[in-house]
Amino acid sequence: MDEYSDVAGGDVTIPAEVLVVGASASGLSTVEALRRKGYAGRITVLGKELHAPYDRPPLSKQVLSGSWEPDRAVLRTQEILSSWNAEFVQGDSAIALDLLTRTVRAESGRELQADAIVIATGVRARRLPGQPRLNGVHVLRTLDDALRLRTDLLDCSRLVVVGEGVLGSEISATARVMGVDVTITGPQAAPMALQVGPLVSGLLAELHSERGVRLRLGTGVVGLTGENDRVTGVQLGTGEVLPADVVVVAIGAAPATDWLADSGLRLDNGVVCDSRCRAAEGIYAVGDVARWYHEQLGGLMRLENRTNATEQAAAVAGVILGEDRPYVPVPYFWTDQFDAKIQVYGALPADAHVEIVDGDVSARRFVALYRAEGMVTGVLGWNMPKQARQRRQEIVDAFGDLVPVH
Ligand SMILES: Cc1cc2nc3c(=O)[nH]c(=O)nc-3n(C[C@H](O)[C@H](O)[C@H](O)COP(=O)(O)OP(=O)(O)OC[C@H]3O[C@@H](n4cnc5c(N)ncnc54)[C@H](O)[C@@H]3O)c2cc1C
Repeated sequence: MDEYSDVAGGDVTIPAEVLVVGASASGLSTVEALRRKGYAGRITVLGKELHAPYDRPPLSKQVLSGSWEPDRAVLRTQEILSSWNAEFVQGDSAIALDLLTRTVRAESGRELQADAIVIATGVRARRLPGQPRLNGVHVLRTLDDALRLRTDLLDCSRLVVVGEGVLGSEISATARVMGVDVTITGPQAAPMALQVGPLVSGLLAELHSERGVRLRLGTGVVGLTGENDRVTGVQLGTGEVLPADVVVVAIGAAPATDWLADSGLRLDNGVVCDSRCRAAEGIYAVGDVARWYHEQLGGLMRLENRTNATEQAAAVAGVILGEDRPYVPVPYFWTDQFDAKIQVYGALPADAHVEIVDGDVSARRFVALYRAEGMVTGVLGWNMPKQARQRRQEIVDAFGDLVPVH
């Protein structure tokens, strides 16, 4: 498939049966949107986890801190799930897809065939390469990960978080609020420097330091040290070892596409799709796993954020039902760290010109506009959600001219 051309066009036959692979935010939102739009055909959802489908943002915040019981993170009540009249097959993983017959084979040997298949398998946490399995070393992607990490944090004297991105910064803040001794480390100079640029990451560095998180940034990690199968520290490129009895590795995630390796679909940092999120005829991808052609930005894009999971699902449901519209969202994510609630719309390039347009940085309540080559590409709100949302329109207005994404 040429990435700039659509997989199919013209007349659309409404599928008699839709199979959704992945029972989380984007998979469930697809089912919900199909029913909301009046789809009356058969729907099957195949998910590898046994838990009732749950949301992930609370895992690094309320569930980790213990302020929420895990049940509160469910995506939909059992009553709502039942009202969709879909068959949920849980605790079984897709292991192969046959494009010709549109059949998914699962680990149990089960075969599920449908007229339309939606790939919603998300991403999986990356681990440090070449590391032996040591007790006390965690990643955070699933509810079970969050509960295991919480248990270890309750009896932890020193936590080191490897990774200064959004997730690593959130985990550091939550653990610190729990009273844990926390050090965060990673190659960037400040927390979330890649995501929000120097000004705001500098403010985050101040906030974390004030609250007692030790920042050991600007240096890479070469490995972990351990004794008797238990982690004892994190070794930095400088040779220094940060002592730890618990380590969280938060160094990003990789699209969960292994099961599609022999399918013939184009896999390149996600399932590559056209502007309608179609990977092949009758095959769609949605949420964290989907890398689709964003028509207005002129390039392939993959987003790992919660709002995209819902918005893209609605778009895919529409395409399945014959709506012929490209998916062209303004990317959006939020993060909560200590008392900072940060909203980010659009793109915040590191070299962007940043202007504070509402509020006051010193009061830690402000909205910043990010401009690249004179055009508004992004908006960031720090404890000013309403004002930030209002400024989002400035990105939409600039869209017509936006530079290509890569
Ligand atoms: C700890 C954490 C905190 C986050 N906080 C925020 C936040 O504050 N703000 C924000 O915007 N975003 C946040 N996110 C990101 C957001 O949660 C994701 O963008 C969202 O969950 C994506 O939904 P998804 O359904 O596409 O993928 P996922 O949520 O990854 O779900 C994919 C599902 O597919 C299943 N699956 C995988 N492979 C198979 C297979 N072969 N067969 C069957 N099933 C399979 C998985 O088990 C999983 O249940 C956070 C993510 C995490 C992990």
